[in-house]
Amino acid sequence: MGRSFVYVILGGGVAAGYAALEFANKGVAHGELCIISDEPVAPYERPALSKGFLLPEAPARLPAFHTCVGVNEERLTPKWYKEHGIELILDTRVTSADVRRKTLVTAAGETISYKFLIIATGARAFKLEEFGVSGSDAENVCHLRDLADATRLVDLMQASTGGNAVVIGGGYIGMEVAASLVINKINVTMVFPEPHCIPRLFTPKIASFYEEFYKSKGVNFVKGTVLSSFVINPEGKVIGVNLKDGSYLPADLVVVGIGIRRNTSLFEGQLTLEKGGIKVNSMLQTSNSSVYAVGDVASFPVKAFGEIRRLEHVDAARKSARHAVSAIMEPDTTPEFDYLPFFYSRAFLFSWQFYGENLGEAVYFGDFSGTSFGAYWVHNGHLVGSFLEGGSKEEYEALAKATRLRPAIDDMSDLERQGLRFVVTL
Ligand code: FAD
Ligand code: NDP
Repeated sequence: MGRSFVYVILGGGVAAGYAALEFANKGVAHGELCIISDEPVAPYERPALSKGFLLPEAPARLPAFHTCVGVNEERLTPKWYKEHGIELILDTRVTSADVRRKTLVTAAGETISYKFLIIATGARAFKLEEFGVSGSDAENVCHLRDLADATRLVDLMQASTGGNAVVIGGGYIGMEVAASLVINKINVTMVFPEPHCIPRLFTPKIASFYEEFYKSKGVNFVKGTVLSSFVINPEGKVIGVNLKDGSYLPADLVVVGIGIRRNTSLFEGQLTLEKGGIKVNSMLQTSNSSVYAVGDVASFPVKAFGEIRRLEHVDAARKSARHAVSAIMEPDTTPEFDYLPFFYSRAFLFSWQFYGENLGEAVYFGDFSGTSFGAYWVHNGHLVGSFLEGGSKEEYEALAKATRLRPAIDDMSDLERQGLRFVVTL
């Protein structure tokens, strides 16, 4: 016994929500589309989990942040899916897939067949066990990927007011959660192996600005080392951590944010993989013509860079999802996916945006002791990336537009002198 749909979206995260909206806009018929998700709720804006969801006052809670809440978009509540005849198959894990037969099998043994499949399975958080450290299943150790993790973190924060938290990892989760912990009146120590935070994107100068601010809020940075073991009491609770450099940190709460692994396993051996994700062409189509992949799980060609990239950010999930739907429903009129990478973050009162790639030499502008500053990256004589903290909507738009154009830069000191004026007047 089983069900059959024309379109199946596997995974119920950010990309799934935006794909559903695009299907609805393009007039999908009632009963043709389903979303299968192992989460118990309709797709939501995952970025809220490390920001508004963790606030001590007036925190964000569902249904307020279901996709696609935001400028000029509808908020897709369970009622919206019902009204549009889109079936939400929640709390349901797909345990096997057969792309030749076009079938998926759920943990309960149901077979669901499709004509077109969109894989939107995202990623899962790395566990310290994968680096040879055991104990991360203790009750006061948290990862942060889904609503259940975030709910657990809120409970633990409430029980740890005035206590000590250790944050493992200096990436996006580390920095955003550290800020939330401070706002919740918890003492924070961040531990990571690199010389500065957000090492994949930030230069030492940019990182130093944020680290100094975090320090002024009481955050302690322990760099160049990693956790070697948890110290666990007889009740099974972590009371501290030992670090490889021999030091010990007491802990009432530990948050681990050490990166992600894509959820590709159902398709390994069936679809071509590249760079840890499912390889797609510029129509988001995989090596099987009935199967598309979008969001964190997809490795797609970034035209401007002339190579396949895997991006782990929400804007790429939203746009790749919409584009895949367009490619499926309107194949003759859908152009190639031409995506300019865009990342952003918000923590404390800071808010930054980044466009393009951080390749080549960085040129800085603005006031690094104030609240608005930025950087351009120049590679082979062209502006290829740009970063701005504290910009206005118009300034961010100008930054994006200019970065997409990849203008030639003949004089680096002139670019530095012009600063933000360079993109605003381009
Ligand atoms: P996901 O949103 O992860 O969705 C994948 C879905 O598939 C999940 O519902 C999962 O449960 C389901 N699934 C997986 N396998 C199966 C299976 N076998 N059966 C059924 N269901 C399955 N990006 C930014 O640019 N800015 C931010 O500020 C930002 N903040 C973030 C904060 C947090 C806490 C996290 C975790 C991420 C954040 N990101 C941010 C990244 C962004 O959320 C992701 O890039 C985005 O969610 C990717 O969307 P996706 O749909 O590809 O994957
Ligand atoms: P990131 O990849 O951003 O950061 C992980 C950090 O942990 C890296 O600096 C990594 O170093 C470090 N690390 C790796 N192993 C260890 C270890 N054993 N001990 C200590 N540190 C270690 O991943 P996150 O976990 O922060 O974020 C998870 C996902 O969520 C990412 O896809 C991210 O893009 C997304 N996200 C995005 C946000 C945004 O865009 N604003 C906000 C929150 C999450 P190394 O690089 O050397 O491996």
